[in-house]
Amino acid sequence: MRIYDVIQKKKHGEELTKEEISETVRLFTDGIIPDYQMSALLMAICLRGMNGEETLALTEAISNSGDSIDLSEFGNLTVDKHSTGGVGDKTTLIVAPIAASLGCKVAKMSGRGLGHTGGTIDKLESFPGYDVSLSPEKFRNQVRDIGISVVGQSGNLAPADKKLYALRDVTATVDSIPLITSSIMGKKLPSGAHSIVLDVKCGSGAFMKTPEDAKILAENMVKIGNMSGRRTAALITNMDVPLGRAIGNALEVKEAIEVLRGGGPSDLVEVSFALAAMMVHLSLGYAEDVAAQKVKESVSSGIAFEKFKEWLHAQGADPAYAENTELFECAKFSRQIRAAKDGYVSAMDAEIIGEAAASLGAGREKKEDAIDYTAGIILEKKTADKIKSGDLLATLYTSDASKLDTAERIFNQALKFSDSELPKQKLIYSFLS
Ligand code: URA
Repeated sequence: MRIYDVIQKKKHGEELTKEEISETVRLFTDGIIPDYQMSALLMAICLRGMNGEETLALTEAISNSGDSIDLSEFGNLTVDKHSTGGVGDKTTLIVAPIAASLGCKVAKMSGRGLGHTGGTIDKLESFPGYDVSLSPEKFRNQVRDIGISVVGQSGNLAPADKKLYALRDVTATVDSIPLITSSIMGKKLPSGAHSIVLDVKCGSGAFMKTPEDAKILAENMVKIGNMSGRRTAALITNMDVPLGRAIGNALEVKEAIEVLRGGGPSDLVEVSFALAAMMVHLSLGYAEDVAAQKVKESVSSGIAFEKFKEWLHAQGADPAYAENTELFECAKFSRQIRAAKDGYVSAMDAEIIGEAAASLGAGREKKEDAIDYTAGIILEKKTADKIKSGDLLATLYTSDASKLDTAERIFNQALKFSDSELPKQKLIYSFLS
């Protein structure tokens, strides 16, 4: 096989064989195919697409490129949840303890944030002492003992994706449905969970900007998960506006704790409860309405919050932070953003708000950048809210006062106003399984 011929074939929109795909991924991962040829092939895939068989072959090639985790001792109880990436998305911190408190085994590997999107591992590291890199044995023991463990991605899980994603990131080839499908499912399959719930984000802060594209991505991922022997379901959820009111690591953790204690913003509660119910339905076999009821009760009875504290303790953090969120270090500087006139908020571009939060120190531009766990934004108003001149729209937080002016400028670009009332946006577009 010559990689030149594979590129040429895809350039002309022809179907690649399973062998061509697996060989290409193997040779690229081993450093034999250079970045410039792989970039050309990625662009051809972006422009010409891939059919179901090609996408499955690419997913399997990525999944088989490194280690896989054996969770078979837990039977069908293991469940994973994956979001395609959003702003203010702290649902893992909520759904994982809910599902574990009801008997699911949540053995999860999560990522760090990059660009405008946050990452669960950064959020968890807001807890002093939280250990994100347990040994495989400790990881498994914790799942056995308390039903939940969330760690960073192991070095050798889907190494092909690591190389491919780095290249896609700099060659404008991220937003391709077959490439996103194979990247996400290529990591989920070796992570070992029997059931997988996907939260496919749709809107200004997501890779998929329209419900139609999000549906195709969700259908692709669900099909590949099910074909690979995993029970897979997806929710398509709104990411035109950030989820909840908090954006930034420690701020988001505090908001997740509010939800686990029975409060929190209604949009975050609705999406989290729907995801958790799907996890419980798939892995424990309850009917969907029974699963939804159990999820609500796990929060109202306090067992989900108790599980959250048990999880923190097992992974080296102090559960006192969950009991008393004032223990978290606070940002040294803040700035209030106020409305200039009466009217309604007509748009709040999630991607730009994510960029504003990152510019305050909550995110990173490059992998090596340090995070300011105290930094971020609390939104007081969201899309469709009525406002009066002088109303507080948001507060920006940071440990570096020199970042406030830039962040305020970026934040203001995200907002649009109107004089007339707008219909509320849909929060959950659809369910697929
Ligand atoms: N998340 C991933 O892991 N991969 C993609 O391609 C997009 C989002």
